[in-house]
Amino acid sequence: MAHDENCVFCKIIKGEIPSAKVFENEDVYAFLDIGQVTKGHTLVIPKDHQPNIFELKEETAAKLFSVVPTIARAVRDTFNPVGLNLLNNNGEAAMQTVFHYHVHIIPRYGKGDGYG
Ligand code: 5GP
Ligand code: ZN
Repeated sequence: MAHDENCVFCKIIKGEIPSAKVFENEDVYAFLDIGQVTKGHTLVIPKDHQPNIFELKEETAAKLFSVVPTIARAVRDTFNPVGLNLLNNNGEAAMQTVFHYHVHIIPRYGKGDGYG
């Protein structure tokens, strides 16, 4: 499994940086974003370090997206949003700031929830 010792998300997977876990299996980890754009904002990451979608292996993508609905339902059941956005930034020009592939789960609470 690829690992980058300078990567903040690899450090989170190893437990070197604390995080609020939402879901974990052998290949995928999900945790609350430190910058909560809305309540319950969650990041889903593969444990295998791959910088972004341009380098993401098909197998890694399959493993990650196979559990996204389960994580989305867990977020819904915990935070009771009325909708939810999935977001994935790839490249600095697209506002990617952490270069370990991740999908944002952004719960939505209707007009005035402060996002978008
Ligand atoms: P990006 O802009 O790359 O799509 O998203 C990176 C996300 O990672 C940001 O929303 C940011 O708040 C989050 N983030 C960065 N460092 C940490 C951290 O140490 N812990 C957690 N929980 N989230 C982080
Ligand atoms: Zn990483």
